Amino acid sequence: MKPAPFRYAAPRTLDEALAVLSQHGAEAKVLAGGQSLVPLLNLRLARPELVVDINRVAGLDAVRHEDGWVEIGALVRQWDAERDPLVRSQVPLLAQALGYVAHPQIRARGTLCGSVAHADPAAEIPLVLTTLGGEVVAARAGGSRTLPAEAFFLDLFTTALASDELVTAIRLPAGGFQGTAFCEFSPREGDFALVAVAVALRWDAGGRIQEARVGVSGVGPTARRVVEAEAALAGEEKSRSAAQRAGEAVAAAVHASGDVHASAEYRRHLARVLTERAVVQAMAIGGEGVDAQ
Ligand SMILES: Cc1cc2nc3c(=O)[nH]c(=O)nc-3n(C[C@H](O)[C@H](O)[C@H](O)COP(=O)(O)OP(=O)(O)OC[C@H]3O[C@@H](n4cnc5c(N)ncnc54)[C@H](O)[C@@H]3O)c2cc1C
Repeated sequence: MKPAPFRYAAPRTLDEALAVLSQHGAEAKVLAGGQSLVPLLNLRLARPELVVDINRVAGLDAVRHEDGWVEIGALVRQWDAERDPLVRSQVPLLAQALGYVAHPQIRARGTLCGSVAHADPAAEIPLVLTTLGGEVVAARAGGSRTLPAEAFFLDLFTTALASDELVTAIRLPAGGFQGTAFCEFSPREGDFALVAVAVALRWDAGGRIQEARVGVSGVGPTARRVVEAEAALAGEEKSRSAAQRAGEAVAAAVHASGDVHASAEYRRHLARVLTERAVVQAMAIGGEGVDAQ
């Protein structure tokens, strides 16, 4: 199919882009990598009057380390972020997750900010942002605001972004965890996951876990942290039994619903198994291995 007719704007500066959105935001759609928007246009599920192509806007394609955050601009492609030395050293969980996003051809064009703005409930990048307590920077003509992930993602494909706002960057806390892991299950490689789990752990010199972050997607309208699993891990020695308890805590905490892809029970089962697996993997990173108990 071909898209319904639309007008096209290709601003070259952020101010120009924000001015266009301030005038036409309600009937406009921003085009970044186009990997979600173009299929929606072609299927006529989206019929904007104006497409605002931000690909020529200068200054949005950088990865920066500032004030304890790694900031990733709106035109940084998923493929580039996965290989970025700053991302790999400071936010390894994101690099691990990006390997699961779609196929290399799609990651070569798709942006991280586009994925966040699109807010697919099964997408990997919103899950990492939520798990690590990341932020979204949204600009409009005359100002910008920074929203924590949990205030940004509201529902299925629904965010707190206003129609005249542009996501200019996402920010993730730099460093802080020795062990991270991302696990998901999808029917075919490159498909959206049925369930995905992200884990980040910090432990002391004796191997006792001081802080745990556990996030899950595929069991609700948005990705979420599971504080019950984080509490089950805090203060524990790294061990398989602690990982099992975290998995059980996730299964008890989530309220999955069934759909054409999987029953609620199967999603809950996946959440338990993938949490256990991700925690074991996160514990093993750092070379100390996991106690078999
Ligand atoms: C076959 C296929 C498989 C895929 N599998 C996966 C997968 O497994 N996991 C996954 O996470 N994703 C998957 N995707 C989606 C892919 O990751 C997209 O790249 C991503 O969702 C959107 O990024 P984009 O830059 O292409 O955004 P676009 O398609 O350009 O835009 C998507 C939406 O976000 C808005 N938008 C984009 N950028 C901004 C911005 N800076 N500010 C405000 N609004 C903005 C657009 O207006 C549009 O509504 C898949 C896509 C395809 C085609």
